[in-house]
Amino acid sequence: MAVREFAERGADLELVGIHKRFPGFTAIEELDLTIPAGSFFALLGPSGCGKTTTLRLVAGLEEPTQGRILIGGTDVTSTKAHERPVNTVFQSYALFPHMSIIDNVSFGLKRRRITDAEGRAHEALRLVELDHLAQRRPAQLSGGQQQRVALARAIVNRPALLLLDEPLGALDLKLRRQMQLELKTIQEEVGLTFLHVTHDQEEAMTMADTVAVMNKGAIEQMGAPAELYELPRTAFVANFLGQSNLFTGEVVGTTDTAITVDAAGMRLIVPTRRAQRHTGQVTIGVRPEKVALHREAPVESSERNMLGPGRVIDVSFSGVSTQYIVAVPGIGTMTVFAQNIGSGPVASDGDEVWVSWDVAHGFGLDDAPS
Ligand code: ATP
Repeated sequence: MAVREFAERGADLELVGIHKRFPGFTAIEELDLTIPAGSFFALLGPSGCGKTTTLRLVAGLEEPTQGRILIGGTDVTSTKAHERPVNTVFQSYALFPHMSIIDNVSFGLKRRRITDAEGRAHEALRLVELDHLAQRRPAQLSGGQQQRVALARAIVNRPALLLLDEPLGALDLKLRRQMQLELKTIQEEVGLTFLHVTHDQEEAMTMADTVAVMNKGAIEQMGAPAELYELPRTAFVANFLGQSNLFTGEVVGTTDTAITVDAAGMRLIVPTRRAQRHTGQVTIGVRPEKVALHREAPVESSERNMLGPGRVIDVSFSGVSTQYIVAVPGIGTMTVFAQNIGSGPVASDGDEVWVSWDVAHGFGLDDAPS
């Protein structure tokens, strides 16, 4: 079969004009997506945004109401699930409890009468560093090890595309972080195309080359993790991917290099190239770790935006950093993350403070202010 020809390496995936309507509910509005062969792509979004439905469409477990799905350039929209060069790793490992690890991994190959099924299964187990436990039963492995077996079992089929549906969701935080790095290393080694869905922004950013942020059945923004984080285009992305301080105001000046926004009588500057809108009512923002806290009014500078005086209304110390919530009259509350270099918190509840940030770090959104 033509689509199986891609099974030795990753293939690209194209979703063209996909809509998915369930009776009485539209789960996917209009989805156009190209995932290059060999990349690690994350679909990130809150519960119910349509991530799993997208995966199920790619796997062939759901049919799109409209649109086409191409894998390695071949249209698979009407291809049955088991004939697509795709494997899925779910959160539940679904290993056969009565079989050894090696039998679990080689099971599918043996059923398809593939020669050297055991050899290939050992190779997949070596890749996830579990070959030494090949004779054990699933119950004799830890949760993380079982998840690695599930991964080996998916990889052993050499699918062109591996779909991962919250595969680390059942693991504790520490193991989850460790598995994120391992998964990325394995993906780089095998060169398969990985499509990973998660609601965990840190997970998506740590692992993926490209992240697509999904909201209400559509993609809001897509790009390299650092690019999305540095320059979110919508309030949803600015707040789903980390935290942001957002201000609404009116543009009162525009040059080639900067826009000036009047927010409650305070002047804030954003580089023109970092702002989606250059006139009228706008929402602008800055990340909490880009904001500095001052105990005294800082010297005015055209290179820094400054707000204050305000008052600290909350301080939370978390070892590496401290989070301050500052109430600024007319503006609202601002969040500041400060690294604890040398000492702990530098201000307490009730202290009078000013905040400032380098103009270069601000961004302007495409959303109409709400
Ligand atoms: P989660 O992270 O909670 O799994 P998700 O982003 O994966 O969420 P989907 O499972 O894709 O979300 O569901 C998207 C929307 O489509 C949800 O509102 C869900 O209730 C709806 N939906 C999914 N399957 C069906 C179905 N068979 N019939 C009707 N509505 C459905």
